[in-house]
Amino acid sequence: MRAVRYDAFRQQPRIEQLPDPACPPRGAVVDVHATGVCRSDWHAWQGHDDSVVLPHVPGHEFAGVVRSVGPEVTRFTPGDRVTAPFILSCGRCEQCLAGNGQVCPDQQQPGFDLPGSYAEQVVVIEADHNLVALPAEIDMVAAAGLGCRFGTAFHAVRSQARLQEGECLVVLGCGGVGLSVIQIARAIGARVLAVDVSPGALEAARRLGAEPVPTTPDESADVLVGRLLEASGGGADVTIDALGSARTARIGLRSLRPRGRHVQVGLLLGEDADPALPMGLVIGLELQVLGSHGLAVGEYRELLEEIASGHLDPGATVGTVIGLEDLPDALVGLGGVPASAGMTVARIG
Ligand SMILES: [Zn+2]
Ligand SMILES: [Zn+2]
Repeated sequence: MRAVRYDAFRQQPRIEQLPDPACPPRGAVVDVHATGVCRSDWHAWQGHDDSVVLPHVPGHEFAGVVRSVGPEVTRFTPGDRVTAPFILSCGRCEQCLAGNGQVCPDQQQPGFDLPGSYAEQVVVIEADHNLVALPAEIDMVAAAGLGCRFGTAFHAVRSQARLQEGECLVVLGCGGVGLSVIQIARAIGARVLAVDVSPGALEAARRLGAEPVPTTPDESADVLVGRLLEASGGGADVTIDALGSARTARIGLRSLRPRGRHVQVGLLLGEDADPALPMGLVIGLELQVLGSHGLAVGEYRELLEEIASGHLDPGATVGTVIGLEDLPDALVGLGGVPASAGMTVARIG
């Protein structure tokens, strides 16, 4: 099969001809039809993720068709249209049995500790537990984001923030996760203030029903917090850091009204891994700080129902569709401010 691979961190990835992957007894091999290009792929390529072993095939959000299943798999057969959460869980531990596979201690992730989906084929371990059947109506390009960005946003807004109709949400960062958050929040009937430095991202946010709040990298946090407190009428009910930095995490907490909820979705890596947060404010205003990590495989039923009913449309968050041959440059380019708004998805095969 053809796959994108890199031999060293920060070295240009290449398209290589690799052996087809073997199918584990309880796993499945999936023909990848579409794979998303997510900022976490860039972090892995930068060497920010200890679980990556070189040489490495990146990619963790995909949709495709089952090519083969192991002898112990009973729920899926070749030809099934599928996706999977990027957090592949064991299906047997206490967390998995409680429906919280996104925090399974035995989890594995394609594109990080397993070979990823920037390839014509990808392996899904524990296929009966982790594979998600896709309805025929969902396009593969639209479905790719369900594995990470759209699914992660769904979990953050619905399960973690428990955002309600009429509440005010501030989303910091309008990349793939941020735009998905906006669509999901607007479908609930919340007001959304969307913060970003990119005019293109803000325009995409506006089209999805958010009120754009332009900023610049060097705007003082005090000034931005002041603007957000004023625009939200005394503070947001919920803030979501969809970018992932010490600065945006702090701005999110400081922009809440009393008893507000901050959800940290964007990964905090490198020098931002252990940020100082205003915990005095957390006590005094009884704020809640919530983490959000992917989504549980059990949440897909509700997510797919919302898509089938037309309440949600992950395709509307896709900005650019590329091919397998474009993936190396797309991965490298994730480090800068994106040239175009919305998710980049590669169609494969
Ligand atoms: Zn588990
Ligand atoms: Zn991702």
